[in-house]
Amino acid sequence: MSKIGVFPGSFDPFTKGHECIVKKALDLFDEIVIAIGQNTSKTYLFDLENRKKHIESLFQDQPEVRVAVFKGLTVSFCQSIGAKYIVRGLRDSKDFGYERSIAQMNYEISGIESVFFMTVPEYTAINSTIVREIHKSGGSMELFVTNADELVNENGKQ
Ligand code: ADP
Repeated sequence: MSKIGVFPGSFDPFTKGHECIVKKALDLFDEIVIAIGQNTSKTYLFDLENRKKHIESLFQDQPEVRVAVFKGLTVSFCQSIGAKYIVRGLRDSKDFGYERSIAQMNYEISGIESVFFMTVPEYTAINSTIVREIHKSGGSMELFVTNADELVNENGKQ
């Protein structure tokens, strides 16, 4: 049976930091499902379809990586596809504090274990919120997002 790791997030946008975590996780898992969570109380800068297409294009040559969209609890999504592990990335102790609570509560309610990977030092500062601010202010995202141009479609729609 293949070992599936679910990497959930908003990925608004999917940065080089996220990409690094997927690459590291592939050493441990047979399949990584990048799961874009749709939270109705959140607003996103980039369209769901654009985020999904952008991530799919980054891993188009890697059939062991797929992209899915889900609503509701991450653990329910994991159960629906038979995944027993959640993959998350850590940049610093602030991430750790936040992730620890979520991981422990997820385990309590479902028995699903979380696995953490440290990002490489050069991507520690990359943060989707700041990348969005740079883009909104007319700056380029290229340093932080691979193929950033794919996030904006021909109509200029984000
Ligand atoms: P969320 O909305 O769940 O916080 P994000 O899209 O911001 O989702 O992040 C998803 C995961 O990627 C989280 O585990 C987060 O800690 C991790 N992450 C975000 N940026 C980086 C980075 N630069 N390096 C490594 N991990 C990161």
